[in-house]
Amino acid sequence: MINAFSPALEGEVEERSGEKPRLCYQCGKCSTGCLFNFAMDILPHQMMKLVHYGQKKRLLGSHTIWICAACETCTARCPNDIDVAGVIDTLRAMALEEGVKPAERNIPLFHACFLGNIQATGRISEPILMGSYKTFSGDLVSDIGLAVEMLKKGKIKLIPSVVKDRRKVRRIFKETKR
Ligand code: SF4
Ligand code: SF4
Repeated sequence: MINAFSPALEGEVEERSGEKPRLCYQCGKCSTGCLFNFAMDILPHQMMKLVHYGQKKRLLGSHTIWICAACETCTARCPNDIDVAGVIDTLRAMALEEGVKPAERNIPLFHACFLGNIQATGRISEPILMGSYKTFSGDLVSDIGLAVEMLKKGKIKLIPSVVKDRRKVRRIFKETKR
């Protein structure tokens, strides 16, 4: 179980992300520009402050680390040159490494299915991606109508496209897992 407060959190986040959230002056530009702020339990500028306060449990257990789409709008808007998206990405990686139960169960599941698809074929195939995600999430039927419509309009290719040299793709996965 992770501690609610960790005096080491700030140093670890700084070392891993190369950013200094403690320099944030709470102007809020990152949060107001975030397209997903309506769904977050902790806003990006609040995340920066909580890192400074060592609030590890709240941050790693937050919905925000999974809701964040890594679009980097916050980073681009920060007048203080803080890579807010990079800090959030660091927190997401720490949560995974420390085995924290994700506040958004299906988002990390989708990430895993997406990466599994890329690892297997080198490209995204909608039937493989959606088939694996729907199976593992246990929600098999909710989007059937949409899938049928997309098939009718030729938006989904049933035969997956595969890259020529899948060994190269596998090697990338192997290298990045070290
Ligand atoms: S990177 Fe995440 S926090 Fe930043 S603007 Fe995009 S969704 Fe919001
Ligand atoms: S935009 Fe930058 S300085 Fe302003 S609150 Fe966000 S992280 Fe802090």
